Amino acid sequence: MSKTITEQNLRLLVDALLKEGGRVVAPKLAETMTLYEPLATGQELDLTKLPRRSSKETFFPLCETILTFERDEAGVRVGDVDPASFPETVLLGARPCDAAAPSILDAVFSWDYNDEFYLERRRKTTIIGLACTTADDACFCTAVGLSPADTRGSDLFLTPLEGGGYACQAVTDKGKELMEKQAQFFSDAGSEKPLAPAEPAGEPLDLGKIKSWLDGNFENPLWTKIADLCVGCGACAFLCPACHCFDISDEGTEAKGCRRKHWDACGFGKFTNHASGHNPRDVQPQRYRNRIMHKFKYYDDKFGRTLCTGCGRCIRWCPVGIDIAAILQQVEAKVEVE
Ligand code: SF4
Ligand code: SF4
Repeated sequence: MSKTITEQNLRLLVDALLKEGGRVVAPKLAETMTLYEPLATGQELDLTKLPRRSSKETFFPLCETILTFERDEAGVRVGDVDPASFPETVLLGARPCDAAAPSILDAVFSWDYNDEFYLERRRKTTIIGLACTTADDACFCTAVGLSPADTRGSDLFLTPLEGGGYACQAVTDKGKELMEKQAQFFSDAGSEKPLAPAEPAGEPLDLGKIKSWLDGNFENPLWTKIADLCVGCGACAFLCPACHCFDISDEGTEAKGCRRKHWDACGFGKFTNHASGHNPRDVQPQRYRNRIMHKFKYYDDKFGRTLCTGCGRCIRWCPVGIDIAAILQQVEAKVEVE
């Protein structure tokens, strides 16, 4: 099912969804940067820039309370947060590198334990993807098997048109239902031409070759060389659409408090610190090695997927300029040499 939608009608669609009581998360200018955030009105929608952080927080917030507790003379009362109360959500304007990530993450959030905080949000979210027509020198989605016009992970997919507005393609039944329910905002497709998709630089990486090198090189001097600069700030993991490690901590006092789930990062020195004080990854190269191994070997071994969509955020914002695409090219070149 293919239709078109004007810029103005896209904003009116947001207003209509909000009026029905749903939540619409989309790129908006939030003070100094564009972020995926809940909109209060369609006028806030800003599809011109790639948001600084990925859209994973739509399903997996930076920090959330998962229970509360209170103790007095009468005893202890525990209040569970009920995921059934989460609102129906439309994630609008997700770039292909962001839209593809949740379907990669579904495997880990429903593997040995069903994380209902994540899964209920996934069930209740319709993803409207947006084709990219510009790329910067950090983007490398095409090198990891995606593309600026990739519809994977989207329920509906928007492609900007030359004269303004968007071509709108229903990718899943969920997307088709949204389009049918809100039919007044869509028109039949005419002769409008789509804008050309962006062309990220860089040749496709041979992820199979890279993985086979990783399989045999847990110990290699390369890890020290590439991670020498890493300051363990965790920015790469926090900005990434596919990184998903979290910690759980209790906050408050013995009398009253809450249990919170919050993002964590394998780059942090204390990430694997044991209660005994022993840390199996006690130096930064071991932590950076884990980042690469997890994305390009362990996740593939366990779930058959690569944990990177080539969004380039970790390259753009690493304070010391570590470039994961360059590291992968280096590993691929080593395979050729060895
Ligand atoms: S953003 Fe850069 S310095 Fe910070 S943890 Fe990641 S690789 Fe290390
Ligand atoms: S590892 Fe870097 S380039 Fe790959 S998805 Fe994460 S932030 Fe984007």
